[in-house]
Amino acid sequence: KKIDQVYEMDKTLGKGKFGSVVLCRSKATGEECACKTLKKGEEIVHREVEIMQHLSGHPGVVTLKAVYEDAESFYLVMELCSEGRLLDQMAREGHYSKQNAANIIKELMLAVPYCHEMGVVHRDIKPENILLTTCGQMKLADFGLAVRILDGQRLTGSPAYVSPEVLVGNYSEKVDMWSAGVLLHALLVGVLPFQGDSLDTVFEAIKKDKLDFVGGAWESVSQPARDLLSKMLTRNTSTRLTADGVLWHPWISFYTEPLL
Ligand code: ADP
Ligand code: MG
Ligand code: MG
Repeated sequence: KKIDQVYEMDKTLGKGKFGSVVLCRSKATGEECACKTLKKGEEIVHREVEIMQHLSGHPGVVTLKAVYEDAESFYLVMELCSEGRLLDQMAREGHYSKQNAANIIKELMLAVPYCHEMGVVHRDIKPENILLTTCGQMKLADFGLAVRILDGQRLTGSPAYVSPEVLVGNYSEKVDMWSAGVLLHALLVGVLPFQGDSLDTVFEAIKKDKLDFVGGAWESVSQPARDLLSKMLTRNTSTRLTADGVLWHPWISFYTEPLL
């Protein structure tokens, strides 16, 4: 079946590099969903479809409901996150409350290990790609930059010849923990930890800058919060906090309901 036989398209929800996301409504049930159109051709687009199909099944990850395709495009029908992007909520609220920040990070720290266990590294965690539902739940979205790791079938050639970097190095899932640390910094301090006027200076800052805890914005950031931030934004990947480490950190426990 063609998608327009099944869904009626409504307004645009967002636009990106390889396609756009539109609100759609099931002609049979009236259920509202989000439909992401991805133009065929680029390998990266095929990978996004494949990864979305491979995931789906965690409350913290946007659920894929159906995939349609025609000659030009794929259509990913996803659950609708009607409260939009975390980015816009952050901008609206100005200063994000500690409880809300801790809950977002906690939900993210449940969603990220699910992806990692499924062999998927997101690699693009940021407030544009974290969506919110009407119940205030967060959903990780946009697997357009994600890669699959530890998947023997995806590794071409003989596994015995694959370098350790391919298995754990560049693709390491620890990159998602760093991004989560940057997000927590943005939520708590209101600014990004590593800044610069150009791409090069931002990259220099990421490689070298230390969290200085200096300036007015830090006044409201408690010692436990600073401790958590420094442990997530650790450059040494072997000591960088894991998702479990974040979940059990005193700052998270203090501001959120205990895990069962
Ligand atoms: P891109 O790869 O182009 O960044 P995204 O998957 O991030 O595409 O989607 C682009 C934008 O579309 C998001 O930032 C968001 O505003 C909106 N969007 C995407 N998926 C949904 C969804 N399931 N529900 C509501 N809005 C969505
Ligand atoms: Mg995006
Ligand atoms: Mg994308």
